[in-house]
Amino acid sequence: MSRTAAPKANTAAPLVIVGASYAGTQLAASARELGFDAPIVLLGEERHAPYQRPPLSKGLLTGKTSVDTLALRGPDFFTDNAIDLQTGRRAVSLDAAARTLRLDDGATLRYGSLALATGARCRTLPVSGADLAGVHNLRTLDDALGISDALGSASRACVIGGGFIGLEVASALAARGAAVTVVESQERLLARSFPALMSNYLAGAHRQRGVDLVLGRGVRALTGEADRVQHVELDDGSRIGCDMVVLGIGVTPNVELARQAGIACDNGILTDALGRSSAPGVIAVGDVANTTLPAMPGGPTRMRLESIQAANDGARAAASALAGKPQPFDGVPWFWSDQHALKLQMAGLPQPGDEAVLRGDMQTDRFSLFYLRDGVLVAAHSVNRPAEHMHSRKLIAARTRIDPRLLQDASVDLKSIPRSSP
Ligand code: NAP
Repeated sequence: MSRTAAPKANTAAPLVIVGASYAGTQLAASARELGFDAPIVLLGEERHAPYQRPPLSKGLLTGKTSVDTLALRGPDFFTDNAIDLQTGRRAVSLDAAARTLRLDDGATLRYGSLALATGARCRTLPVSGADLAGVHNLRTLDDALGISDALGSASRACVIGGGFIGLEVASALAARGAAVTVVESQERLLARSFPALMSNYLAGAHRQRGVDLVLGRGVRALTGEADRVQHVELDDGSRIGCDMVVLGIGVTPNVELARQAGIACDNGILTDALGRSSAPGVIAVGDVANTTLPAMPGGPTRMRLESIQAANDGARAAASALAGKPQPFDGVPWFWSDQHALKLQMAGLPQPGDEAVLRGDMQTDRFSLFYLRDGVLVAAHSVNRPAEHMHSRKLIAARTRIDPRLLQDASVDLKSIPRSSP
């Protein structure tokens, strides 16, 4: 974003944003783009300025991405836009009636509007040995640097959790030459995001590339010597030898500030489609927000999405309300993941019972799987088919009714299918 002039000095109570990752940064940026001219204070708990997270589980581990390329915004962005970025500052309590926020150094900030973009933290593994040296989480840049360092002396890695973090990390560690085992408690990979057909495809793809998968098994303990992990003990008594463990077992939304202030929470902070919480003047955006998506196929749907795209889209919607030009997000959720040489792109959210239609050949690692609900395209998963992903997003947003034979036939250009309402 560029602005020709910094906002004039404004003595209005500021917008204070707690959390300086994607949602918080986008909220500040979009508010300025839309003409919001009160002061903006952006508080980040980490010592780093806002940075890109996707490379943490990919290029930063393989060595293809260096730390100095990770900045989320250019060096002058915050000053040019009169956004007072303060890193290393943690909010510890909130008085929503008095509109004040207390920080861990004892400072109290008064706000006109408050945005909670506090994100989520890694779930902890509730077994003995989870605190041994060599056991890593992956959420922050410092976590990723720790894993990368540990790889220098590790040849066998066990990844616990077969979700996005687990599978991306497994791919990166395998690329660095480690022998990798993934342990997933569900019977199949990415069971919450993918139907069985996609889970099974991915399992085959990882196994073909040398990653060992142990599915449907829980972890009973982590054991080791001299306080360093050496084995992952499974619930059937078997043991996996390893030099390091990476946990990717999901996240918990950071709702504590909101809950303590009496703001309604249920699997995140409850918000409307413009990010507004139950407390006047308090909005929530990003992984912590359990929000309403107005344009889902079955009508407005409440959900807490954990993705960069959802964080950015939700932040733009919340900023529009702050700037007095309310515009809820009316698009389709989408995601992507890089695993080995596979670019997975996902649009919409399939449900059990949707009709799956395959275009292409899974064996070639180039295909799209489309999902129809009552004849209407509601979701698509593409592997190494970026153009099909882009077109499917448009078709899904338009709630297009499509003959499955057209989707199946690779000679039919998706662009030629008219977008329509059912
Ligand atoms: P996730 O996608 O929720 O996957 C965690 C997986 O670990 C789930 O299948 C979970 O099963 C399983 N699990 C939980 N406890 C386990 C245990 N004790 N032993 C073995 N498996 C266990 O979460 P994540 O992979 O940790 O990712 C964290 C967050 O980062 C998510 O929000 C994710 O969407 C985001 N992320 C996104 C991307 C992307 O979009 N490309 C990339 C990286 C991370 P249950 O479901 O039964 O708990």
